[in-house]
Amino acid sequence: MKILVVGTGAREHAIVRALSLDPAVTELHAAPGNPGIGTLATLHTVNPLDGFAVAELATRLGVDLVVVGPEAPLVAGVADHVREAGIPVFGPSAEGARLEGSKAFAKEVMAAAGVPTAAPRVAEDLEQAAAAFDELGAPYVVKDDGLAAGKGVVVTDDRAEALAHAHACLQKPGGRIVIEEYLDGPEVSLFVLSDGTDVVPLVPAQDFKRAHDGDEGPNTGGMGAYSPLPWAPEGLVDEVVERVARPTIAEMARRGTPFAGVLYVGLALTSKGPKVVEFNARFGDPETQVVLARLATPLAGVLLASATGGLGDLPPLEWRDDAAVTVVVAAEGYPAAPRSGDAITGVTQADALDDVHVLHAGTSASDGILHSAGGRVLSVVGVGADLTAARTAAYAGVDLIRLKGAHHRSDIALAASQGSRADRD
Ligand code: AMP
Repeated sequence: MKILVVGTGAREHAIVRALSLDPAVTELHAAPGNPGIGTLATLHTVNPLDGFAVAELATRLGVDLVVVGPEAPLVAGVADHVREAGIPVFGPSAEGARLEGSKAFAKEVMAAAGVPTAAPRVAEDLEQAAAAFDELGAPYVVKDDGLAAGKGVVVTDDRAEALAHAHACLQKPGGRIVIEEYLDGPEVSLFVLSDGTDVVPLVPAQDFKRAHDGDEGPNTGGMGAYSPLPWAPEGLVDEVVERVARPTIAEMARRGTPFAGVLYVGLALTSKGPKVVEFNARFGDPETQVVLARLATPLAGVLLASATGGLGDLPPLEWRDDAAVTVVVAAEGYPAAPRSGDAITGVTQADALDDVHVLHAGTSASDGILHSAGGRVLSVVGVGADLTAARTAAYAGVDLIRLKGAHHRSDIALAASQGSRADRD
């Protein structure tokens, strides 16, 4: 099977790596990819947001499957262009991707499907926003309706900060915000594959959104993740499949816009049971890194079945007993103002350790030297018999990497490895 993966991040590197381990895969291409992906796939300098260009490249290469990693190309309809060119594509249509692209739309679908979630109020001006704050009370949860690259959500006890975020979002052309009830409880990410009809869940993971240890500091795209979650209630996956994934997929099909791809279900485990915090229309990063590290079933056939139908006919997915932990190495100044262009060393040495692999996110290579080129620069994934062993492996890899001013969290999966339940994230 020849496969083209669209995207540039560690998520795409994790996907390409898993595909490279699948004996059915004969050729791997990436657009545009990154230097790490370039060790496993042929890179093509194509704008991932340009559906015509991606479809043209896929046609020229004669690939059997295109896998679209990030949300922006999906919302821009890149999967639709590829599908129109007659090539199977893993990733939803632009209509399907609205589950991520518009929080108000996602809430509408959840309401129609009876999915448990925080009660929302949609506001189009500051007066409506203030009324919603009065009604729902603190902590205030204020969300930009549209895609905001992880920066759209503010959760705060400070009404002035909530109003300021509402104001900033509403100033954008057509700006709308969703204000919702605060959900208490630990967060879990569950990816559920669908071909538009059937659903197949992967294993749950937890990510760490704050920049610094102890969940301090600003929100980021994610500083690390782990799987499995020893503290998760038994039956969680089945409950989420039955109460969230199946009704959502059925509702999308009923609307004539079936959702094929991966539905990322972000959950809060509240005292009243799991409730949806957010939907995304693609694999989450960094959780994908640990989930795919544990998947024993070859990946290509599973993604192809999601793209073409027949997911329900596949044998059950198989998982390694191992645990996986990933630690993100971020550039100095991330997330506010990441510094780039610094030399990185130690990646080859870290990658050569047993039970460790390094995934690239914001890197560039020139004359054989690796440089930082983004906020989240690298991810170091450790695998082991349990979370303690997986952490030890991941941090041994992190210790070998040298990048001026870089920072990482030292407490990824720490509480869970000690048998306690992680708190918020
Ligand atoms: P989102 O982009 O919707 O996932 O929101 C980003 C983060 O904000 C989530 O991962 C949560 O940590 C937090 N968050 C979002 N919605 C809520 C909510 N209703 N209650 C509490 N925290 C929330």
